[in-house]
Amino acid sequence: MRIPLAGELGHLAGIGTVAAVLAGAGPGALDAQQDMSDVEITTIPLESDLFMLVGRGGNIGLSVGEDGAFLIDDQFAPLTDKILAAVAEVTDQPVRWVLNTHWHGDHTGGNENLGNAGAMIVAHRNVYRRMNPDEFADLMGRSSQAPRAALPVVTFDAGVQFHWNGRHIDVTHIGQAHTDGDAVVHFPRANVFHMGDTFFRGRYPFVDVDSGGGVDGVIAAANFVLERSNEGTRIIPGHGDLASPEHLREYRDMLEIVRMRVASLVANGRTEEQVVAAAPTADLDEAWGANSERFVRAVYQSLAGGME
Ligand SMILES: [Zn+2]
Repeated sequence: MRIPLAGELGHLAGIGTVAAVLAGAGPGALDAQQDMSDVEITTIPLESDLFMLVGRGGNIGLSVGEDGAFLIDDQFAPLTDKILAAVAEVTDQPVRWVLNTHWHGDHTGGNENLGNAGAMIVAHRNVYRRMNPDEFADLMGRSSQAPRAALPVVTFDAGVQFHWNGRHIDVTHIGQAHTDGDAVVHFPRANVFHMGDTFFRGRYPFVDVDSGGGVDGVIAAANFVLERSNEGTRIIPGHGDLASPEHLREYRDMLEIVRMRVASLVANGRTEEQVVAAAPTADLDEAWGANSERFVRAVYQSLAGGME
């Protein structure tokens, strides 16, 4: 598999971790390599008690209120103090819950710090499995043993609902998407979604086939959210700026076009190299970025039956 260079995705924060994960490094391994001293956490209000936090790594969702802070993803370990300072700007309550949208280190790197500080970590069952492979000899593909305090203490399969800070928070697992453990989070009253890495705004997605991902699940995640959206819906993508349903619709349409083209090449017996050579995204690359080869390979592998 080709490892993307950090510069290839330009503005996409956290892509260095994707490369590290691809290279088999653990969630903590990159922390020592990256200087995060210049990273600032930006807080974007969605409602008076609901926020998107942007730093380095996956975008964070934050609900605050009298029950305590509820965090969606936690970026990298060296950023925990800055993230907690940003949380303290909007609430005097501690972080009580951390929900991981999937297992990648740019979304779970703060788990150990927050777990040690008393937060309850929640994630799909496959996040726990991929972060705890010592217990799961049957696990296929990529995984990395995390410290005990970083592991989820509550896991779910199809989904879970929180009733917290006066809100209902609906968490739904979408199978075989960015990975095999993705969660899409819906705040119905606020009309806000957090899609984790099933959605990269304005860029080709990273489909982590070696972590059980697949293009059809990424499309399913987009359709799941679009079916529950209206004009006022706001969507936190895993990476990129806050998005509207229109941004997500364009992304879904692009995914379907590429899927259709690659599927027809696969049906005609083309190999992975022949599919890449056919440049099925040539007319899309200007709009969606320069990293199309990795995406095309992932679509091929999704459709042709997984990893090589
Ligand atoms: Zn990811």
